[in-house]
Amino acid sequence: MKIAINGAGIAGPTLAWWLAEHGHEAVLVEHAPSLRSGGYIVDFWGLGYDIAEKMGLVSQIRERGYQVGEVRFVDERGRKAGGFDTGVFGRMTKGRFTSVRRSDISAIVHDAIADRCETIFGDSIARIEEHGGGVRVGFEREAERDFDLVVGADGLHSRVRSLAFGEQARFEKFLGYHVAAFEVAGYEPRDELVYVSHSAPGLQVSRFSMRDDRTLFLFVFHDEHFSGKPPRDDAERRAELNRIFGGVGWECPQILAAMEQAGDIYFDRVSQIRTEQWTKGRVALAGDAAACVSLLAGEGTGLAIAEAYVLAGELHRAGGDFPRAFGKYERRLMPFVRRKQEGAAKFASSFAPRTATGIFIRNIATKLMRIPFVADRLIGNDLRDDIELPEYGE
Ligand SMILES: Cc1cc2nc3c(=O)[nH]c(=O)nc-3n(C[C@H](O)[C@H](O)[C@H](O)COP(=O)(O)OP(=O)(O)OC[C@H]3O[C@@H](n4cnc5c(N)ncnc54)[C@H](O)[C@@H]3O)c2cc1C
Repeated sequence: MKIAINGAGIAGPTLAWWLAEHGHEAVLVEHAPSLRSGGYIVDFWGLGYDIAEKMGLVSQIRERGYQVGEVRFVDERGRKAGGFDTGVFGRMTKGRFTSVRRSDISAIVHDAIADRCETIFGDSIARIEEHGGGVRVGFEREAERDFDLVVGADGLHSRVRSLAFGEQARFEKFLGYHVAAFEVAGYEPRDELVYVSHSAPGLQVSRFSMRDDRTLFLFVFHDEHFSGKPPRDDAERRAELNRIFGGVGWECPQILAAMEQAGDIYFDRVSQIRTEQWTKGRVALAGDAAACVSLLAGEGTGLAIAEAYVLAGELHRAGGDFPRAFGKYERRLMPFVRRKQEGAAKFASSFAPRTATGIFIRNIATKLMRIPFVADRLIGNDLRDDIELPEYGE
C-alpha cells in the first residue's frame, strides 16, 4: 500500500519505518522546513524503549541521552526543599530508562528510514478526499497525489484530525496548565545531571544542563496566571513569560534575562486529546494526534512509538483489509492509552501545586521518596506498562 503520513515527529517516522519493514510505501509530510532540532527533553522507557530496541536504535538514543541522577526542588533562595534520587527509575525499569531530547529521538528514527521513504518538508496535507479505491490528497504546496491510506501523525494540533474527524475543541481536554520551554548556551550555574526546579503557587520553573554548555528551561504555569491571549511569536512569548514569572524568586530574574538570547520558544497548553475513534474510513491517527497524554504522563513519546508499531503491524497482518487492521489497532491500544491519560490528568495538581501548602506537601512527599521502598511504591505503578504487544514478524 501507499500511505501518506502527515508529521515527521516521533509517530510519523516510526510508522514509516515499520511500514517499510512490512513492504509498504510511506510518504512523510512535515510542516517544518527541516526536522526540528533542540527543544525539550523527554523521559524514555517502557514500550517505546522496547520497540526502539527492536528497530536497533536504542544505543544511539542512549548515546544522546542523559542519565539524570536527581530531581531537586529548591526554595526562593536556592536551598534544597525536596526532591528525590532518580535511581528509582533505573530500578523499576532494570536500567531501561534515559532522558533525551525529543528532537534527537525524532532525528534518529528519521535517519533510519530516510533512504526508504520520501519526506516532503515545508508542506502539509490540506485536503483529503476519499473515493472508491483510495484517497486523493491535496497539499498546501505540492500537487495532489493518490494514496491508499492517510495517517495523521501531526501532533496535538493535528491538521489531519481536523480535516477528517472535526475541530480540535471537540477532542481537547485542557488540564489547566500551560508549558513553555527554551534552551540557551553558557548559562551558569550548572548542576550536571540534576533536574533543578523551583515552585511558587501555580508556577514552576526548572532547568537542566545539557552537553555543549547548553541549558534547557521549562516553565509550567496554571491558567489563572495566563493573559488568555495565545502569543503569536517569540517576542510575545517572552513578554508573557516575563509578565508571569517576573516576580518569582530563585534564579528567575537571571533565567528571564537569559531568555532574551533564546530563539524557538516552545509555548502551548497542557492538554490531552480524547477521541472515540482513532480511525475513520481510510484515515487513521497516531501519536499525540490520536491520543495526546500530555507531558504529565511522561510517556507520550513511547506511546506514539507503540501506536505506530501496532498500526503498521496490524496493517501487515490484515493483508489489504485495512478496516480490520484499524479495528484491531483501536481495540488493542485505546483502553490502555485512556488509562494513561486518566493517571496523568490526576497528577496535574501535584506537578505544579497551586498553593504554598500544596508545594510544602509535595516537597515532603518527595523527601520520603529517598526511602527506596516508598519511591518504588509511589512511582512503580506509573512506570509499568500493563500491556503485551504482539510480534508482527515477516
Ligand atoms: C514539555 C514537554 C515535555 C514532555 N515530556 C515527555 C516525557 O518526559 N516523556 C515522553 O515520553 N513524552 C513527553 N512529552 C510528550 C511527547 O513529546 C509527545 O507525546 C510526542 O512528541 C508525540 O509524538 P508525535 O509524533 O505524536 O507528535 P510530535 O512529536 O508533536 O510531532 C508532530 C510532528 O508533526 C508536525 N506537524 C504539525 N502540524 C503539521 C501539519 N499541519 N502538517 C505537517 N506536519 C505537521 C510537527 O512539526 C512535528 O514534527 C512531553 C511533551 C512536552 C510538550
